[in-house]
Amino acid sequence: MTQKHQFLKKYFGYDQFREGQEILIDSILAGKDTFGIMPTGAGKSICYQLPGIMMEGITLVITPLISLMKDQVASLKEAGIRGAYFNSSLTQGQYFKALEYAKRGTYKIVYVAPERLMNREFLDFARSVKIEMITVDEAHCVSQWGQDFRPSYLKILDFVEQLEHRPIISAFTATATRQVREDVAQILELKEPTILTTGFDRKNLFFSVQKPGNKYSVLKNYVDTHPGKSGIVYCLTRKLVEEVCQRLEEEGIAATRYHAGLSDEERRTNQDDFIYDIKPIMVATNAFGMGIDKSNVNFVIHYNMPKNIESYYQEAGRAGRDGENADCILLYGGKDVVTNQFFIEKDSENEELEPEEREKIRERDRMRLKKMTFYCHTNECLRNYILNYFGERSPGYCGNCINCLTQFEERDITSVARHILGCVDNCGQRYGLTVILDAVHGGDTEKIRRYRLDEDDYYGTESDKSIHFLRQAADYLLLNDYLTQTDDRYSVLRLGPKAGPVLARKEQVTMKAAKEREPGAVKAEKASKRDYEIENPGLFEALRALRTKIARIQSVPPYVVFTDKTLREMCARVPKTREEMLDISGVGEAKFKKYGKEFLRVIEENS
Ligand code: ADP
Ligand code: ZN
Repeated sequence: MTQKHQFLKKYFGYDQFREGQEILIDSILAGKDTFGIMPTGAGKSICYQLPGIMMEGITLVITPLISLMKDQVASLKEAGIRGAYFNSSLTQGQYFKALEYAKRGTYKIVYVAPERLMNREFLDFARSVKIEMITVDEAHCVSQWGQDFRPSYLKILDFVEQLEHRPIISAFTATATRQVREDVAQILELKEPTILTTGFDRKNLFFSVQKPGNKYSVLKNYVDTHPGKSGIVYCLTRKLVEEVCQRLEEEGIAATRYHAGLSDEERRTNQDDFIYDIKPIMVATNAFGMGIDKSNVNFVIHYNMPKNIESYYQEAGRAGRDGENADCILLYGGKDVVTNQFFIEKDSENEELEPEEREKIRERDRMRLKKMTFYCHTNECLRNYILNYFGERSPGYCGNCINCLTQFEERDITSVARHILGCVDNCGQRYGLTVILDAVHGGDTEKIRRYRLDEDDYYGTESDKSIHFLRQAADYLLLNDYLTQTDDRYSVLRLGPKAGPVLARKEQVTMKAAKEREPGAVKAEKASKRDYEIENPGLFEALRALRTKIARIQSVPPYVVFTDKTLREMCARVPKTREEMLDISGVGEAKFKKYGKEFLRVIEENS
């Protein structure tokens, strides 16, 4: 076992790295600047925390998410790692005291808000110790193109220049657009960085769109059929938050609310009630969520359609961070479009911009809203739609969204396949996808004429199909070795190993595809019916109760002690000894030392 695997097990209790983590960690350990783009919940923290504790000096983590810092440091402490944070939530006294400790090298990992960086005392500390790495979390905040631009992030470089030695810089974000990515690398002056983007797919999320006449009754029904589950209900307006939350409360459901109209204190209380599972359902506007790191959110229901796919995926992505299956349901109503349009037109956020620039931004927002609206109406795989939106290729069928479950059928595409493959073959495997599809579709383009494809046997053989369907079929052929594509920039199509038998009319080809929509057909509104069985529910409840007790005593959220997933694994494997317990994912040595005996005792009593 390598040292980093040992550390992963010892401090975090995990046996394996997740996708991308190891590459990023290795890069940092090799002393290189590193830039990781991974979706929410993919496990970015470990990518800098683990090398942070393996390296000699201090790791400084810059993050704008003040509420998250406290939890992160609490989590580190649970894992037996010394950390601290510096932000505006500390009193003067606490601030100086912590700085004093930090100077003496008490902490291995230090979180800081960007506004604090150029603060004299903080600089003093930073210059008197060895800072080995600076980690810029939420790195998209440096880009004006991102949604959360923060001017204070531009100071990071000034700060780095104040240090005697330039530390390694690692940056992390979940926001993917190319422009933002380029900005981050450029503005932070990353030096030949290792850049890694992991797929944006979150396989454990189930996506669904429903168009109910009565949204409230759908919500209520969902909550009733998923007792004990924790979730967020997003509404577009404060007024609606109040209404929905009140109705739930009146019906005896432990719900709370969050929006910008509440006092700071009430927001904090409500947020804690949610995080500590006292009130497992949060009804909120989009003001809620930045920096909420609750890992056991089982569902995110959008009571209204949000303004764009970026917001939707970010908000829905707060479900299932623990890797457990979770539901993301959007309750669409025609009014949502109007409300969002209203927000776009009256938006006053960009007042300092020139009128033309403001109009440009509005135009962009209208486009985004349109694509969000398409999402609510598409018959295609919802996951595929989202991933394509972010520029990622994916199979057209995921099997874990409402459309795949209700709108798809097995379709025989043998003749389409034969025509596409035949056309590729006929023209000597020289052309790319677009040209070939245009040819079988019977298009009249400059290239078709120039290459004389209109004289080909297969020209127009599929003219009755939509080009969209042909593209899907071609994607399927590419993903399943009927076709291949050259890697050069021409991306020429070639016949794949499975093409022969199809061309020889010896084999059929079928694929899952969206049913052709009949005019006026209404989407079946089947609620997701997947509940996750827990082995031994009695034991699970007992473990949860113990976790709640410990969390209260330590004043940390329950999932900081152990996640649901870890408890579930305990139920399934019923560990009896120290070794068996340490083998459970999420149980590291520090945590075992603190709680292992108590958990073993409860397991023994309840099994
Ligand atoms: P992100 O910052 O990317 O949104 P986090 O760092 O908060 O994600 O990690 C999400 C969850 O995944 C956390 O509960 C974390 O402990 C868990 N996790 C991270 N890495 C692993 C791993 N290698 N194996 C199992 N769980 C992991
Ligand atoms: Zn799907």
